[in-house]
Amino acid sequence: MRFISTRGQAPAVGFTDAVLGGLAPDGGLYVPERWPSFSKERIAGFAAMPYPQVAAEVLGAFAGDEIAPEDMLAMCEEAYASFSHKAVVPMVQIGPQTFIAELFHGPSLAFKDVAMQILARLYDHLLGRQGRKQTILCATSGDTGGAAVEAFRGAKNVKVVAIFPEGRISEVQRRFMTTAEEPNIACVAVKGTFDDCQAILKAAFQDLALRQAVDLAAVNSINFARIAAQAVYYFTTAAALGAPTRAANYVVPSGNFGDAYAGYVAMQMGLPIRKLVVATNSNDILARAFATGRYARGAVQATLSPAMDIQSASNFERLYFEAVKREPEETRRAFEAFANTGIIDIPPGALSTMQAVFTGVAISEDETVRAMVATLNETGELIDPHTAVGVAALAHVPLDGPTVVLSTAHAAKFPEDVGKATGVTPALPRGTASLASRKERFDRLPGEAETIKAYVRAFAEG
Ligand SMILES: *Cc1c(COP(=O)(O)O)cnc(C)c1O
Repeated sequence: MRFISTRGQAPAVGFTDAVLGGLAPDGGLYVPERWPSFSKERIAGFAAMPYPQVAAEVLGAFAGDEIAPEDMLAMCEEAYASFSHKAVVPMVQIGPQTFIAELFHGPSLAFKDVAMQILARLYDHLLGRQGRKQTILCATSGDTGGAAVEAFRGAKNVKVVAIFPEGRISEVQRRFMTTAEEPNIACVAVKGTFDDCQAILKAAFQDLALRQAVDLAAVNSINFARIAAQAVYYFTTAAALGAPTRAANYVVPSGNFGDAYAGYVAMQMGLPIRKLVVATNSNDILARAFATGRYARGAVQATLSPAMDIQSASNFERLYFEAVKREPEETRRAFEAFANTGIIDIPPGALSTMQAVFTGVAISEDETVRAMVATLNETGELIDPHTAVGVAALAHVPLDGPTVVLSTAHAAKFPEDVGKATGVTPALPRGTASLASRKERFDRLPGEAETIKAYVRAFAEG
């Protein structure tokens, strides 16, 4: 399987280079040259298969002959053994035709684990084969850092430096990063905001000498392997609800558009889906784009669902590329202009292609709180604020057939907000209960790029 850039100015690469490379050198995102697809029989068969086996089939369709099927299966089995539920992504029914798919049974209690756990195994495997060692630098405002640390701790060929704004993430989120004991993990509390952390990250990646010296890598959601790993639970949940004979709708709490785009990927691979509902909080760039055809960056507002406080959704470029019939010139023009103007006017034909599949809904803070309360009252389920954005969206869109809301975080990750809304403070599940008493280990540094860069170099070379 070859991967091409959405901007058409970079050479096609294989799976290994697409995974380890992240962003294409022309600034575009890698997408498969052709969509692999599964027959109806094969999709129906997923209903009877353990999750890791479906994951190995889906990822294997993209890896092609670059990873032996038995190696892929072994990596998927190991990755999903870290989940605390045997089904990996179980479903809970919350209405006559409505289900919640719980993506939060991984070690850091957020859906980022689903992709990160397998990504870490893929990295170690692919790097080991090349005799290469990489350093992952990630800046986190919440869930990504914890998921990355949990996934990569103990990796042989990867070191991780996670930087976060001191005092600006929750204690639970911080502890998922700072309590790892493995020496290949370093955490840094930076004096400054998340935007300062992002700027430092950018400066580090622009420093070619540093990049080469430590083989710097990123694990953000533009990595196609993460998307492929997220397509898996669309297949398993849809098959459980009767696909391909019966097609379901999906409601996806969205920020960077990786999760919802993964549903689109599953469709390209042959899975029938009726509607993909993109639920946002008041950071509604995606909801506005699908409604009006204008994709326009706004100012980021802090909400109860912080993992979705994003005003430019990286993976949208991949959908745009498909909607303009895979025209790299048009995609490049639009997204290069967006970098300067913050606006893309989606051509009418492309917009109707998008609207045939996607509906966007923006949910207020009030509605988010009400959805947490109503779900608890009507079903006894305690849901987190991100999931609540998805549940609240159900009231805005008429949907026929079975509907799955993706639950992207465990309520215990947001104990204060959930407790305040519902009167019930969620407890950490078994296995993570010791989080509060584990010893923390992190360094404190000023928010200066040069200081952090020197730290990364010393850690990588030490
Ligand atoms: C990352 C995240 C999201 C948003 O997912 P995208 O793929 O960025 O759209 C939603 N909820 C939680 C809890 C997350 O961590």
